[in-house]
Amino acid sequence: MLRPHPKHPNLVVLDHPLIQHKLTIVRDSTTSQSYFRALLNQIAGLMVFEVTRAFPTEPVKVRTPLEETGGTRINRKITVVPVLRAGLGMAEGVLAVMPEARVGHIGVVRDERTLQPVQYLSRLPRDIGAGPVIVIDPMLATGGSASKAIAMLREAGARDLSMICLVAAPEGVGRLAKDHPGVTVYAAAFDRGLNEHGYILPGLGDAGDRLYGTD
Ligand code: URA
Repeated sequence: MLRPHPKHPNLVVLDHPLIQHKLTIVRDSTTSQSYFRALLNQIAGLMVFEVTRAFPTEPVKVRTPLEETGGTRINRKITVVPVLRAGLGMAEGVLAVMPEARVGHIGVVRDERTLQPVQYLSRLPRDIGAGPVIVIDPMLATGGSASKAIAMLREAGARDLSMICLVAAPEGVGRLAKDHPGVTVYAAAFDRGLNEHGYILPGLGDAGDRLYGTD
């Protein structure tokens, strides 16, 4: 049974030992780019396993080589939406355990003049409202991009929304609670806060840079 954070009802921290073990290596500044990328995908796969626990299913009949029996099938179309660029670093891990999921893409960038997040890419299934939508982005910092991405998804027709991130900051969790009540955030860690540059502390640095070797 997954329990919400006692002070943040919109947040669930996944404290599974495997997730926490891998997260610790991901945080380590000496972890190589290739290992970082592999672990991020592995954690994403483990997280989605927990997040989909309550997804709606229906009973179905299945014929084994010997006889007919009862089975279960997830009966809705699931869409996973990585927020570019760092969200891409979790997408393969999610698809490894849920290969039938559709993948939408959202790109959001901060306008340096207004400091507001603006959309530069939106490529989504037309019937995105036909089932649960999981937004993926490793770092929930100020929550500006996540809030914008969720607003775009709502506008496109998504109703059943949740978000998976690796590390969440109180600022981002609070922002989503205000802007999008009803959207649950699943995180592997709930960190202390942001520094003056908007980085999560203790965090893991810039997830996009560590994934793709940029700086
Ligand atoms: N984005 C990152 O990649 N890292 C942070 O710490 C905050 C935002």
